[in-house]
Amino acid sequence: MIAIDIGGTKTLIMFSSKSRMKEFLDETDFDVINANPNDKYCTIRTSSIMNEANFHRFVSTLKSIDKEVISTFPGIVRVEYGKRIKFRVYSQRFPFLIGKHLDFDFVLNDAPAFTYFHAADFFKKRENAERTIMGVVIGTGINACHMNLWDFKRLTFINRIFEAGHVRFDGNEKCFCGRRGCAELHVSGKFLEKIGRGNPERVFSDERLMEVFYRNISDFFISLIITVSPHEIVIGGSVSKSVDMTLLKEKIESGLPHSRVDTGIRIRKDLSPLPHVKGLILAYRRFKQKYRL
Ligand SMILES: [Zn+2]
Repeated sequence: MIAIDIGGTKTLIMFSSKSRMKEFLDETDFDVINANPNDKYCTIRTSSIMNEANFHRFVSTLKSIDKEVISTFPGIVRVEYGKRIKFRVYSQRFPFLIGKHLDFDFVLNDAPAFTYFHAADFFKKRENAERTIMGVVIGTGINACHMNLWDFKRLTFINRIFEAGHVRFDGNEKCFCGRRGCAELHVSGKFLEKIGRGNPERVFSDERLMEVFYRNISDFFISLIITVSPHEIVIGGSVSKSVDMTLLKEKIESGLPHSRVDTGIRIRKDLSPLPHVKGLILAYRRFKQKYRL
């Protein structure tokens, strides 16, 4: 099996054996960023598969190496149940794929894949049986997913629309998704790059910029919390690495409606390797079991 995680900047490809990965690296002319033979994965630049001809060439290269291919997708995935289960996708990042089927064995939005990976540990603990977990991914884009034990066991998050980065946030700036003023424009890695004038790290060494960023990110989390009220939040993606969790929690709690609220919500960062692709593989295993594939 080949498992792919299509990110905003990088696309990770995980193989079932080192020889299959070598076969791909020998054949490919895609822009390879790095290769990790021990963990059997490599990453390529997502921009190198963002046009129709290259994307189809990418898919057929992978399918010539391994018949079974699964993938995350940075947009809306609609599952069609029939003799053969099909996955119809929608994302303005891939305009040539809008409303088309991806010829893969399983496709899942990256936010539920990330959340499922953490939910697998979370729901192992008995005391969490009646609690919920929310995964929030903040990288080039933003997305989130919320799960209870039933969602985790029954995969009810498949065929739902996860686009938390595109809730209306502020201003009238046009977003790539077709809407205006989306949260993604004010919280994501792209925003850090914009206010840090090309260098996201600058934001965290400049008090004024940092204040703007923490105000935005805490406002965004407050909106998520007062909408779905999770018990635990795990934050992943490239931006999460720079975020101070204690400060974020403080800002969230002091900004909640009514007054300073002790939410009891555990907020933590994801420090695990490859959470999206691992969550994707776990969810696919469960999916095959559920639909007897
Ligand atoms: Zn948008």
